[in-house]
Amino acid sequence: MRIIISFDDTDSLEGMCTTYLGAKVVWALMKRHRILDFPHLIRLNPNIPYKTRGNGAVVLYVSLSDSSDFEKVKNEVIAQVATLAMIQSEATHPGLLFIKGKPPKWMRQVAEKALAHVVTIKEVEQLLKKEKNVEYYKWKKGRGIVGACAAVGYSLLDYSRWTYELIGYRKPEMWGTKRQISRQSIINMDYKTMFTFTNYDYYNDVSLIDPHGKDPVLFGIRGTTPSYVTAVFRQLTFDEPLEMWMLYKTNQHTNIHYFNRTLRTNFSELKAFSQTILIGKVVKKFPEKKKGHLKFLISDMNGCHFPCLVYEPSKQFRWVIRQLIVGDYVKVGGAVKRTKEGELGLNVEFVEILSLAKSYEYHNPLCPHCGKRLKSLGHKKGFKCVKCRKKFFSLDKRITEIIRPLMEGYRYLVPQSALRHLSEYFDWNVWRLYRENTQVSEETTTIDAHAFLEKLLSSCVPNLHPKRSKIG
Ligand SMILES: [Zn+2]
Repeated sequence: MRIIISFDDTDSLEGMCTTYLGAKVVWALMKRHRILDFPHLIRLNPNIPYKTRGNGAVVLYVSLSDSSDFEKVKNEVIAQVATLAMIQSEATHPGLLFIKGKPPKWMRQVAEKALAHVVTIKEVEQLLKKEKNVEYYKWKKGRGIVGACAAVGYSLLDYSRWTYELIGYRKPEMWGTKRQISRQSIINMDYKTMFTFTNYDYYNDVSLIDPHGKDPVLFGIRGTTPSYVTAVFRQLTFDEPLEMWMLYKTNQHTNIHYFNRTLRTNFSELKAFSQTILIGKVVKKFPEKKKGHLKFLISDMNGCHFPCLVYEPSKQFRWVIRQLIVGDYVKVGGAVKRTKEGELGLNVEFVEILSLAKSYEYHNPLCPHCGKRLKSLGHKKGFKCVKCRKKFFSLDKRITEIIRPLMEGYRYLVPQSALRHLSEYFDWNVWRLYRENTQVSEETTTIDAHAFLEKLLSSCVPNLHPKRSKIG
């Protein structure tokens, strides 16, 4: 019997990670049952206000060796969620689903909506109650059932991009302490590999594979195929032992949150927490705030203005925004949020320059005798040379066009350290070309996930730094 297990909202800012729970459940299930695909880690609308760090749900596709095992498996998973979820944390409201056979088709619509908008617990629960083959469990408000349904529905979307993430977990006694992972080993690994991404932000000199919170994650390596991320895992050197690791199939860095988002040339009906792309003309720039936050207004065709905001964590991206001037046409993508002042604004994640406005500089002409720049005697009153003491009445100001270092047609992104889980950074065209021109040994569609994971568990031993392997 095939079953789907899906859960969400089990972690909190104080600790835990839904993927850790997923890894525990997968390793336990694999002893007796067959895993049909790598566990899915699905990130949903990154803008909803009550999300934890990543807003990710986990889905497992399992073939039970005997259908009479269903109750036992179910009870084991419920017990795991009850033990490991941060139920004591105020903002954590776990939800868990078991689906026998195929998932209901409406979950696809829930996924579409959950990627860019807010879905309520009530609307999902009404649909779930009608399903005979679905059992759901809620802890506290049970908000997790929304993400759990959406994550299952994600696989039903006509969007075939997937990436993979190999996540290593720390031993419980290390949780909350500083992560012991060699920075040099991360940089070395990043230099050697091609089809993994967001490992290191060289602009800002920060490693991106290790998080900083109290959660059990030591690192996550993201890439295009299971083999690439596993190869990288073998190259890293750790200064603390791992408790376990798991390979997830994910929608991270695929730009899925912009999927089906029509370009907006009309700004009058934008809603908070939605993901959107706007096309408009820069009509006003505000002075830069002390903290380095930038703000500018763009206008749609009807003259409706909308504020665009670029905060300090966007780092070097702000350089692009500083170069923009009134009159430029831009395409801006990001999340619609309500600011502290109560107005709606777009948190800009990328800007594409559609056309640059012309801008000019005016200079006084040079003295025809000595070459020194002349002084103006007032509007249309001529010029005077302070050196030769001569006056010139027939000369005009010189006009030069200002060439700004921005490229029309180019999409500028925030640096990797400011990137969100779903935002694309990797150049998919390079990957496509590579696949077309070389024999990629691995087809991710035909790979046997169960066998791959078994091998990953049994034969992959992380390199521990010899001097520090006593930790833990
Ligand atoms: Zn002169």
